[in-house]
Order: sequence, then C-alpha cells, then structure tokens
Amino acid sequence: MNIGQKILLLLKEEIPEIEYNRYIKHLVYDTKKSTNDTAIFYAPNNLVLNWIKNRYSSKIRHLFEVHESLILNVKIVLKNQIEDKKVEIKKEQKPQQHSLLNPSHTFENFMVGGSNQFAYATIKSVSEKPGELYNPVFIYGGVGLGKTHLMQAAGNVLQNQGKIVIYTTVEQFLNDFIRHVRNKTMERFQEKYRKCDVLLIDDIQFLSNKEGIQEEFFHTFEALKGIGKQIILTADKHPKKIAGLEKRLQSRFEHGLVADIQPPELETKIAIIENKCKINKVILTKDIIHYIATVIESNVREIEGILSKLHAYSQLMHVDIDLQFTKNVLKDQLQENRANLTLDIITQNVAKDLNIKPSEIRSKGRSKNLVYARRIAIYLCRELTQNTMPQLAQYFGMQDHTAISHTLKKINELIQNDEDFKVKIEELTNKITSSS
Ligand code: ADP
Ligand code: MG
Repeated sequence: MNIGQKILLLLKEEIPEIEYNRYIKHLVYDTKKSTNDTAIFYAPNNLVLNWIKNRYSSKIRHLFEVHESLILNVKIVLKNQIEDKKVEIKKEQKPQQHSLLNPSHTFENFMVGGSNQFAYATIKSVSEKPGELYNPVFIYGGVGLGKTHLMQAAGNVLQNQGKIVIYTTVEQFLNDFIRHVRNKTMERFQEKYRKCDVLLIDDIQFLSNKEGIQEEFFHTFEALKGIGKQIILTADKHPKKIAGLEKRLQSRFEHGLVADIQPPELETKIAIIENKCKINKVILTKDIIHYIATVIESNVREIEGILSKLHAYSQLMHVDIDLQFTKNVLKDQLQENRANLTLDIITQNVAKDLNIKPSEIRSKGRSKNLVYARRIAIYLCRELTQNTMPQLAQYFGMQDHTAISHTLKKINELIQNDEDFKVKIEELTNKITSSS
C-alpha cells in the first residue's frame, strides 16, 4: 500500500461511509509525481474533484501532517490534467501542533437539547476554566451523538487561545506508542504527551483488555492531572461498563465528572439538520428537513451522508430537491434502518403510547379508542414494514385487504386535515424507529 492509499484509509475512518464510497474511493494517488512537498491525487470527474476539494483536501493535508509528519500541499486534479493550478491548497501558516481538530467542530455548530445539555454545559464550562473545575471530564454515549464534536469544540477554543491541545483516539495513541517503542524513542513520546496543556482522548473503550497501553496511559494521565492540565475523555459507555479496564483507571475516570449524551429529540435533530444545511450550503424546505429528522434515528452522522447524497443526486440529475425526490433518494436508507422493525414491535409501541394492551389492538373490540389505536397501528405497520395488505389483514384479524385499505384511506385523510394528528403520527414514527 502506498502512502496516499494509507492516508485515504485513515480518512475513511473519520467520514460517513457513503461519502467515502461515493468520492474518496475514486481518488488515485500518484506515487511518481508526488513529492515531500506535494501530494497529488487524481479524481475521475469534476463532481468528485469539487467535492473533495471543498471538503476534504485540508483534512487530507492534516492527516499527512499528523501521521507522516509531512507538511505538504495537496493537489487534486482531473485525470490527465495535472497542471490544474486552481485546485491547489496552500500550506496554512499555522503554528505546528500535534492535534487534528476539525475546525467546524465548534460550540456554535453544536445544537443543544435535553439529550446533550448536561454534556454540553460540562464541556463548555471546562473550556472556560481548563484544569480548574472537573478533571477529567468523561463523556459517554452511542455512536454519532456528538462526543467527538463536543470535545473538539473545547479543543478549538483552547487552541485558539494558544494552548497546546492534543487530540487523539486511543487507537492513534497506541500506534504512536508502538512506533516510539520500536524506534527506541520513548522519551519523545512521553515528552510529547506530557507537555500539552489539554489532552483530548477519544474512544476510551478501545483501552479494553490492552494492558500495556493502559499502563502507559495511566502514567500520562497522572502526570498531566498532577500539574492541573485538563483532560477530556469520551467512550461509548460508562467507565464502569468498559470490560477489562484496570480498576485504578476506572476510578480516575470517574473522579472528575462523568456525563452522558442521549439520542437527540426531534427538535434537536431538526436544528442539527438546519445547521448542517447552512454549513454545507444545501437549501432544503421545512417539510424536507422535518422528513429527514424523522427518517434518521439517532445517529447524527447519517445526516451528513444524507445531505451529500441529496446534493450529489440533484446535481447529477439536474433536478431540485423536493419532498418526493428526498423520499426516493432515501428509500434504501429507510429500508436498511427499518429492516428489523416487526408488526409486534410497532403494535407494542402504539399500545404503550395510547395506554392500552397490544392484544386489545389486535382484538375485535369496537370501542372508539380501540378503533383509533388499531387504525394508527395498521397505518404505521404499512409505512414502516414491507408487509402486504393481506398480511396486515391477517395480523390484525380483519376480514381482508379491503378493510386495511379503507383504514389507510381514513388515516391519510386525517393526516391531511388535522395538523395535530399529523404531528402525533410523526412523533410515534420517530419513537418507534429510534427504539429499534
Ligand atoms: P460521536 O463521536 O459521538 O460518534 P461525532 O461527534 O463524530 O459523534 O458526531 C457525528 C456527526 O454528527 C458530526 O458531524 C457532528 O458534527 C454531528 N453532530 C452530532 N451531534 C450534534 C449536535 N448536537 N449538533 C450539531 N452537530 C452534531
Ligand atoms: Mg467519536
């Protein structure tokens, strides 16, 4: 594997898979013409070229700097057009640091809601008084909920104040460690990590069952903490739940402040999408934003993938992005997300929400609230699963598919005429899809 391929693979770990497959995968590194000053990649067409140029070339440059200690220009050129001057990215005149912070991971770009308020407030206060309030801060929560974003927001603030900030994942820390052991330069490793003002370590769960690195990490941690340097850590679970983590590390991690991040509520998701649209210069109507917010479940990372997919498709096909277009583009995504939703799960959720028993929904009871619940359940089962009308008729104990189609018609009318009901259905959809 050449150095360019290696860097692109590192990039792959940091970006939505769909972006990688659609764009980055098609880049070809020129091993002959690239030098220690310029890395040259070929793009197959203008779409890929512009996309990477706008979004990823500075990131690629950073990766060269951090992983290969090479400070160079990154040139993305159309195949056979190596002299394209316009796409050259200038070396930034920034103080050299070891951190790889994404400059758009700021507090301003972080949307706050009930789900992440506590983590946000904690990190924000620590960024105002590093080393003085809670040390370490340990943020935990599921994939794509904004842990890295939040920790880097603090990093960006402090780095802009001239502090030395190191951001690393446990994996990179481990690789760095191994390289220094191999080169017999452990003092340099220790010096590097112990000289920083702020240490951000991402994905602590990867320390699990790795004793050697836990030992080294413990000493780094103690050294920094001892002189009041701020440490921020993230993981996908609470320190207590990380298997194979030394007791002394676990208790150190819990010593400062442990805060969790929960999946975002609908309003927070909407705010996040609006913000991402602004950053990515994608214009979407309120309808579409609302639709996307209900489609994506909890992983916010999917939003970027969806926006880039919409943008790319609309450019390729020369059409505006409207709701129907959005629905078509996201069909695969929906099916993937909802593949494991069953009629039982949906019925149970509807029953719970309306405070009745699932068996009652499937019974022949004709009271007003049962009929209402049954209609909603049928509608959602039709929307969220691949079951046919006869299958639904059988499940809900109805005579045949005409009864189902009658129910669907009634619900669609209600959705169109009653705004409150429409919101209720959206909330339920959201609840069901995010619990699966
Ligand atoms: P994690 O580290 O928890 O897996 P990330 O911090 O990488 O998640 O977030 C994934 C993506 O979602 C990033 O693009 C991030 O900017 C975005 N994101 C997550 N939460 C929010 C939020 N509350 N506001 C704005 N963007 C968010
Ligand atoms: Mg992360």
